[in-house]
Amino acid sequence: MSDCIFCKIVNHEIPSEVVYEDQDLIAFKDIAPLAPVHLLVIPKKHIKDLNEVAVEDEGLMGRLLSVVKKLAAEHGVAESGYRVITNIGSDGGQVVPHLHFHLLGGQKLGTKLG
Ligand code: 5GP
Ligand code: ZN
Repeated sequence: MSDCIFCKIVNHEIPSEVVYEDQDLIAFKDIAPLAPVHLLVIPKKHIKDLNEVAVEDEGLMGRLLSVVKKLAAEHGVAESGYRVITNIGSDGGQVVPHLHFHLLGGQKLGTKLG
């Protein structure tokens, strides 16, 4: 999608600190980190949000979560704990309409989720 900022990151049209990349997925550091570790893991193909995930994307979603787990270990938060969030739509607080999973850790995170 040409006007999508995360598609531009996928295509390396705008810079980001990439921490993982394969054929279908990319992960990079959040530009405005809310915790010492704040990564975004996304599918390369433009999917707006979880509502748009199709049955044929199930394998992709499974692999995405495996990447989240691997990155948590690599960034030293697997044992201390971390949080994985995907925001959906307006009430969910989604700002960038390209499916992404936040991986947050490296400090005691707040308990307020809603
Ligand atoms: P959302 O609120 O949509 O779940 O989260 C979007 C996230 O993307 C925010 O945490 C924001 O800081 C991050 N973000 C927005 N634009 C960019 C960008 O150009 N580069 C990077 N690395 N992160 C971005
Ligand atoms: Zn996109």
